[in-house]
Amino acid sequence: MASVVELLRVEPGTTPTLADIDPRSTPGTRKDKADAKAETAEIGAELAELQEQLYAGARHGDPRRVLLVLQGMDTSGKGGAVKRVAGQVNPAGVRITGFGTPTEEELAHDFLWRIEKALPPAGTIGVFDRSHYEDVLIVRVHDLVPRAEWEARYDRINAWEAGLVEQGFTLLKVMLHISPDEQRERLLARLDDPTKHWKVNPADIDERAHWADYATAYEAALSRCSTAAAPWHVLPADRKWYRDWALSHLLLEALRDLDLSWPTPDLDLEGMRAALQG
Ligand code: AMP
Ligand code: MG
Repeated sequence: MASVVELLRVEPGTTPTLADIDPRSTPGTRKDKADAKAETAEIGAELAELQEQLYAGARHGDPRRVLLVLQGMDTSGKGGAVKRVAGQVNPAGVRITGFGTPTEEELAHDFLWRIEKALPPAGTIGVFDRSHYEDVLIVRVHDLVPRAEWEARYDRINAWEAGLVEQGFTLLKVMLHISPDEQRERLLARLDDPTKHWKVNPADIDERAHWADYATAYEAALSRCSTAAAPWHVLPADRKWYRDWALSHLLLEALRDLDLSWPTPDLDLEGMRAALQG
């Protein structure tokens, strides 16, 4: 069977049409919800071990690290996905950063300034809940900077990401793809639940009027910034169990590809044993 990475990957040089990707589809799994949930939990154990090997390697000079970049419309489940990833591995090895509306200080700098500051150190898994891609998404949809400025960002992003990959980063870029109907249900559910009211933002409802513009902006980013060094993936996310299953697989495949092993430092084990016993 093709890997989940391959199934969801946007092939470099192609332009995906989001309307042709069913957000309720479940590529790569013939399992039902209960079986998929069980498998997701099993994968967690392997993820935890691989993450510890990544961390151990960095203690012995391995520069490698993983950066999971999550993008998606409001309620697409970025927060749930973060919880899922973080809940499966040692929290000490994960760096989670959410990117909201830039502060004045951030706006005074280049758009990559705040992103660079949040990059994960060697040996860790970084998770971005939104990212530098907002600078070609919401910024493009709402004309927050002149067109020439956001147009130039696609190439800048590609060059910058390629540089990260050379330094030992594995970039896993994932768009959580939900339908407008599913978003309406999730926004309504928030209104019905007092424990979710803190998340309610009236602007999220107004943003729905721009759905088609967001789709165009996403398609441009997916097409122009899915590179061999750092490809994009579109993950159908209307079903939460599938989102968690597929995301766990994506991470697992990315970590397995690193061919990690336990470091073998040059230690005088016998000598130390004797010293402890003596
Ligand atoms: P949330 O993820 O629900 O906390 O919302 C964060 C908000 O910040 C979203 O509406 C994003 O579109 C917005 N945002 C994130 N990055 C940028 C950016 N670079 N410029 C403008 N708005 C942004
Ligand atoms: Mg929000």
